[in-house]
Amino acid sequence: MELDRMDENDWKYHGEGNKSLVVSHVQHCRVLRLLKYPAEDSENPPQTAEQAFRQIQNIVDFTSNVISCLLGEKFVHSGEVVRLPLEFVRQLSIKIQHQRPAWRCDKVMDIYSGCALCLPNLTSPTLHQPTPTPPLCIEIKPKCGFLPSPKHVSKDIKTRVCRYCMHQHYKVANGKWKRRSLYCPLDLFSGNKQRMHFAIRHLIEEPQNNLKVFKGGQCIYSSKEGSDESPDTNSLLHHLRPYFLRGNNRVNGHVTTKAVLNDFIQVLGNALLSAAGGDGGQVTDRTGEGRSFCEASLFNKERIRHGSQGLPTNNILSRILQTQMLDSLDIEGLYPLYCRVEQHLQDFPKDRTGLQIDGPYDQNFLEKVQKCLMEDDDSVEYAAAKVHQYRIAMTAKDCSIMVTLVPSSEEEDDDEDLSSQKRLRDFRPQAFSSSVSVLDLDPKPLDSVPRQLRLDQKIVSCYLRTGGTLP
Ligand code: ATP
Ligand code: ZN
Ligand code: MG
Ligand code: MG
Repeated sequence: MELDRMDENDWKYHGEGNKSLVVSHVQHCRVLRLLKYPAEDSENPPQTAEQAFRQIQNIVDFTSNVISCLLGEKFVHSGEVVRLPLEFVRQLSIKIQHQRPAWRCDKVMDIYSGCALCLPNLTSPTLHQPTPTPPLCIEIKPKCGFLPSPKHVSKDIKTRVCRYCMHQHYKVANGKWKRRSLYCPLDLFSGNKQRMHFAIRHLIEEPQNNLKVFKGGQCIYSSKEGSDESPDTNSLLHHLRPYFLRGNNRVNGHVTTKAVLNDFIQVLGNALLSAAGGDGGQVTDRTGEGRSFCEASLFNKERIRHGSQGLPTNNILSRILQTQMLDSLDIEGLYPLYCRVEQHLQDFPKDRTGLQIDGPYDQNFLEKVQKCLMEDDDSVEYAAAKVHQYRIAMTAKDCSIMVTLVPSSEEEDDDEDLSSQKRLRDFRPQAFSSSVSVLDLDPKPLDSVPRQLRLDQKIVSCYLRTGGTLP
């Protein structure tokens, strides 16, 4: 990629979140992730080009020095900051505008700084040999997978119903989504195959912003916010069918839709369970704590026939969960420590740098977080370290997992061959090789702490008011 000769025609709209917009290169496996601003600031960028550069450099540093150590470097791509010609960025923004979903257009793409984060395109893996069907990539935003400890929360309901499930009621009550999703993160993070299957099935039924499916780099399945229609599951199944023609699927020679869906969920669940990397990191065994089952989940506890398997060590889900659990005090227990830090910064503004409130996210920052005392010694250093831990946990609660499924090419799909060996092989779904990455790993700013407290209060009181009785 030659940065001085950029052509907007080489790039196309790929997707966006709340904070950034992503374009992908039409040939190379690269994406550019650009910042977004509220539309009312469009004439007046909220930060200078240098500040934007710093913000993106902070993302790179945070990802490579902090998150990568916690989640495992195998899963994490930190990318690099690039400076793009402003004319290119302007033309690009015009070119992609009509492809953006209307509900995301309350924000505009940053066309002033010329800075972007350049990352590998995780939906277009580099293939070593041609495959019969294009790779499938499944993006899951799993959200928080544990219940807070009763020690720190003021409302007992928070120890029984998980944050995601309560938030669903709030979002439906506020019209953000028309229907509640029956996905519960505690099921996905359980490591129990049946519970994981149940969770993934509900992600597919109501994907909201927690599931997207890409085929050959194109998004083929996702939700539209506020829309009355559910996304078209039949169209997804139509895309998936050619991938699951083998396996134990046939009724009178016909592969049923239910079987295709089951195989897909099974392959995805296995990919999530098998993804392990790096060393170190203990499994957090939560089975004895009673903090691993959410009362709002419709998964019937009696159905856990084989006991809870738990997550394997170094598995991607267990790494994400452990990192989320750096939030050990809950927002309610953390808030007084946040106030201690804020008060100190008001009295001694210069300490902002020493406490590394806005970075740099270097080795030293990671050490502060990892060597944080167990007991509060009333120091501002302790409070700052707990706030850092909380912010890292927030990143892990907001990140996405990208699972790549590459169909293997060695086995031939041969309907007529019923030799015993072939038939044996046919009793499992088509073989895929899978890999897993984590994306969306921005550091959260300090002022997200008071916002989180307010949101938490709103969500909990809404849940208690409606009694969790919404459809
Ligand atoms: P959120 O609102 O979830 O915080 P965000 O604004 O921080 O999102 P991202 O999640 O990083 O933005 O990116 C938006 C979307 O772009 C992702 O959901 C994903 O579909 C796509 N995307 C981001 N990075 C990549 C990548 N490296 N390769 C392929 N697709 C990507
Ligand atoms: Zn739940
Ligand atoms: Mg995202
Ligand atoms: Mg994000």
